[in-house]
Amino acid sequence: MPSLITPKAAAANETMSHEYVLGIDVGGTDVKVGLFDYQGQIVASDRTPTPSLGTPIAVFEHALRFGNNALGAEKTATSKDHCQITAVGLAVPGVLDQATCQLKEVVNLPGWLNVPLLDQMQAQTGLPCAVLNDANAAALAEHAMRNLGHQSLALVTLGTGIGCGLVLGGRPYGGDHGCAGELGHIAIDFGDASWPCTCGSRGHLETYAGAAGVQRRLKDRIADGVAANEPADITPREIARRAEAGDPHCIATIRETAAYVGRAIGMLCQSVDPAVVLLGGAMTFGGPDRPTGRKFLDDVIAEVRATTLVQVGTQVTIDFASLKNNAGMIGAAKFASLAAQIDHDAHH
Ligand SMILES: [Zn+2]
Repeated sequence: MPSLITPKAAAANETMSHEYVLGIDVGGTDVKVGLFDYQGQIVASDRTPTPSLGTPIAVFEHALRFGNNALGAEKTATSKDHCQITAVGLAVPGVLDQATCQLKEVVNLPGWLNVPLLDQMQAQTGLPCAVLNDANAAALAEHAMRNLGHQSLALVTLGTGIGCGLVLGGRPYGGDHGCAGELGHIAIDFGDASWPCTCGSRGHLETYAGAAGVQRRLKDRIADGVAANEPADITPREIARRAEAGDPHCIATIRETAAYVGRAIGMLCQSVDPAVVLLGGAMTFGGPDRPTGRKFLDDVIAEVRATTLVQVGTQVTIDFASLKNNAGMIGAAKFASLAAQIDHDAHH
């Protein structure tokens, strides 16, 4: 049978099939580590509470130990003698300085601020390493899953805050100050009456369409209409449930949220012109599984189309994100293999 793989490529694949990559995703709650094969398939994974590990050094030690143990099991299972870990990727929350690979701002990881993460990780593991922001890691994982090649993707996370990971031309993009894609702090409302944002500025998207903003707008609507006994903080899920039951206040609040989010995504699309924009997080009102979530997505799409050039608005694919909890870990591993590949090519 004719093969499209030339002997040289086949030889390269044979080598690559023994190569594995470690992906580490550090959050305030736990540290996730995954061992991936050269095709990006997950071989083994682990989740450990962050406080029990603490410092970056302890996390790198833990990850390498886990990776080597998992690799040992893989050798036995596949009878591949030459298995080796060839790169390690790390995803971290907060504002990451691209030039120094140091976190300049981070919540819940006190021991990680201003630490030269890349240097420490390379010294600890003795392997090529790569560090990126967790939002960009998640975006890269979604990008890889969709085989988007050199196309661009934005992953917008709607929750307590509103974040956005960017992959531009196939590469994660953090920006020169670590703040690229900070969609939550795009101004959508102007003037003296605009609401103050947690960042100190006014009228930012997060203030209106972050969890607290949505709750506040719903309460304002209820107060304007019929008097009702409302709990202090009604969850997005509950808002979606009530909307599905026909509650006009909840329906209107969700529609308004979609318009705000759509407006900001429209600005992003008009600036970057990505192939794909994905929505993830807790504030998607049930997401793809619920009629309210699907309606929310349709309203976001309508707003993007209404506010952008026709070439942009009609061609961008806007959908829900597919990967959930493991996206950061997958993206970290993917970034490490991309970085190792570039490094490899540069030396040959
Ligand atoms: Zn702000």
